[in-house]
Amino acid sequence: MLNGKAAVVTGSTSGIGLGIAKALAADGADILLNGLGDAQQIEALRAELAAQYGVKVAYCGADMTKPAEIERMIETAFRELGKVDIVVNNAGIQHVSPVHEFPIDRWDAVIAINLTAPFLVTRAVLPGMLERNWGRIINIASTHGWVASVDKSAYVASKHGIMGFTKAVALETATTGVTCNAICPGWVLTPLVQKQIDALAEREGLSEEDATVELLGEKQPSLQFTKPDQLGALAVFLCSEGASNMRGIGIPVDGGWLAQ
Ligand code: NAD
Repeated sequence: MLNGKAAVVTGSTSGIGLGIAKALAADGADILLNGLGDAQQIEALRAELAAQYGVKVAYCGADMTKPAEIERMIETAFRELGKVDIVVNNAGIQHVSPVHEFPIDRWDAVIAINLTAPFLVTRAVLPGMLERNWGRIINIASTHGWVASVDKSAYVASKHGIMGFTKAVALETATTGVTCNAICPGWVLTPLVQKQIDALAEREGLSEEDATVELLGEKQPSLQFTKPDQLGALAVFLCSEGASNMRGIGIPVDGGWLAQ
């Protein structure tokens, strides 16, 4: 049980981050939510999670492309939750384009959110974790941390980068009670993937249903999406005593994508 632990989950106003935040809260952790969206809806979500799970739930809308805002988010977590024991570096974006046409500002944004933000968050919380000799850093990478796909150069580079970062932090903390690991999902049906289904449907003149089947069929042998709550269950396990000597690995949850 995670009672008495405090967790920051970046990009937790929707999709995978929200699934993980709910799972950690259900296991007793206080949570700081982060992410973009409508202020009223986010406040309703914050209040609902606090009431449902009986834990403290704070929110900071820091933009993960901005180092000063990331600092503000960590300060907010210290102020509202007292400490940070668990970090889930989840906020992430995608941009799909051939490399020779890839807009430079999109490359910079993908690297900033998917790779630099996890470094800045980890850098800020690690001293406190080491002081208490307990911490869990969980980076949400992707199957694209292991293999590539066409037209996703920035995303693939950022996800391979976060796998390397995960290993480096795991080695630096290897003799302590702090662990650092990555979760590598295949396709999960979230707004990030819905945009790719919509683009495929438009490009190939397909119905949404046919585009979904084509998208899954190309990569994910189970032909099923992984669900955010399944990733939440894995995050809870990584926070448990049972996972205390798992260090620097990337765990695929990918319906067989990487088995091919
Ligand atoms: P999503 O679009 O549903 O959610 C992304 C979250 O990040 C949202 O809460 C959004 O508000 C937040 N966010 C976006 N830009 C931000 C910014 N600048 N600052 C702060 N927050 C910001 O996406 P998702 O599919 O849930 O993806 C979450 C993570 O999982 C990402 O790192 C993604 O690369 C990874 N992932 C997703 C899939 C998938 O199939 N959906 C597969 C593998 C890995």
